[in-house]
Amino acid sequence: MALRLYNTLTAQVEEFQPVEGNQVRIYTCGPTVYDYAHIGNFRTFVFQDILRRYLRYRGYEVRQAMNLTDVDDKTIRKAREAGLDLRDFTATYIEAFEIDRELLNLETPEFLVRATDHIPDMIKLIQTLADKGYTYPSDGSTYFRVERFKDYGKLSKIDLSGIRAGARVDADEYDKANPRDFVLWKAAKEGEPYWDGALGPGRPGWHIECSVMAMKYLGETFDIHSGGTDLAFPHHENEIAQSEAATGKPFARFWLHAEHLKVNGERMAKSLGNYFTLRDLIQKNYKPTAIRYLLSEVPFRKPLNFTFDGLHQAQKSLERLRNFRYRLTMEKFPTGSSAELEARAEGARKAFEDALDDNLNTAEALAAVFNLVADGNTAMDRGEFRDGDRPRFLEVLERWDRIFGSLEDTDHAKLVRFGFIKPLQVGASDSRTSDRAAAVGVKSGDDGRGLLVETLGDEDIERQIEARNSARRSGDFPAADRIRQELDQNGVILEDTKAGTRWKRK
Ligand SMILES: [Zn+2]
Repeated sequence: MALRLYNTLTAQVEEFQPVEGNQVRIYTCGPTVYDYAHIGNFRTFVFQDILRRYLRYRGYEVRQAMNLTDVDDKTIRKAREAGLDLRDFTATYIEAFEIDRELLNLETPEFLVRATDHIPDMIKLIQTLADKGYTYPSDGSTYFRVERFKDYGKLSKIDLSGIRAGARVDADEYDKANPRDFVLWKAAKEGEPYWDGALGPGRPGWHIECSVMAMKYLGETFDIHSGGTDLAFPHHENEIAQSEAATGKPFARFWLHAEHLKVNGERMAKSLGNYFTLRDLIQKNYKPTAIRYLLSEVPFRKPLNFTFDGLHQAQKSLERLRNFRYRLTMEKFPTGSSAELEARAEGARKAFEDALDDNLNTAEALAAVFNLVADGNTAMDRGEFRDGDRPRFLEVLERWDRIFGSLEDTDHAKLVRFGFIKPLQVGASDSRTSDRAAAVGVKSGDDGRGLLVETLGDEDIERQIEARNSARRSGDFPAADRIRQELDQNGVILEDTKAGTRWKRK
């Protein structure tokens, strides 16, 4: 079956084919780097990651560009409040975004580029628009004349007829000929960073950034442009107007918009106290792979309702997949293979791919894999699973992970690497207290932020398990139980399987 995607531009599901050969060129609007990205942002970034992973899975070569908006009203205001140069201020959040992406297993786009590295390109595009009569100056700024672009509104299907000249639709303090018009170049204001050039001292508007970086790295016409649904108007509509007015060619062919994330059914907002960055959840001891799983399980065109119950559920679902893989790799099965199980594995693979072909229906794709897990566990429990069935089932899990990217439990190692967890020093294990509920507990760090502190290191845990095994071998079951309880109090769960004792952090 061919890959079909819902295109906001045509308002229908269409079969996807790249413009040129086997390469898919994708542009995704990146973050504005004045704060840590929140889980609503990451809902969109996870969807875009699944999109690029699935295109590669289908054999396409992917060329993706993502911008980092490192100059706009907010970055300028926040940098000033922090008493920092704009570039130094935004560098902190660019680095944080890179760490967050790594924690969530988001693949790195081929081009992850800063707006302020492209100012001359932006000036050039605005001049092209000026030469073609699409702009006008006002008070040192340059505006796009929306009226001149006949196709304006084709993406968002917004009816602009009610907005009349002279009406105020925003708080923009500049004079515009028509309220629909938008700024391409903003005149420098006292005390703000600015760039000199043919347009006079100033800085670019937000929309022009994306047009410039998209066309620079992907060409004048490319395959897919995507972002959150709130960007469709006016941001993406303005990108189309600028780009197509300048080149006379279609800009992006497919427009993919991810729906909103809500928290407990409500809009997420700092004022409502339900606003979470990835880091907020990590400090509450939630695992990044579980967060990624939660953000990936709802198809992108459906609103995603984030709840802590859902996050617990996501963690459990992941554990189920990991446990199944553990059985597949560690348990001993009789030789031979079963034609019926082979057919089930093949059916699951096909159902998984059909679901993703169907506008990236991640919920159905997950269901296909969980059905197979249920079949596999049942067959194992009944003694019907054979050694030769192992690779076929493992292959389905491996395919699943190529898209969903959360099967490996890499969380603890990454959180230690990026300094979210302070590893326990060797010899310091005596300081542990028995009342801690998790292998890591939240403490207040030097900067006042919560810092996760490990209560038991990996070596400690393995030594304890060895001691427990030896107690069991010598028949001292009360001692073995005591060790198990102690580990449990320190957030370590033991599982005795046919293939030996397995441990994991809660
Ligand atoms: Zn954009």
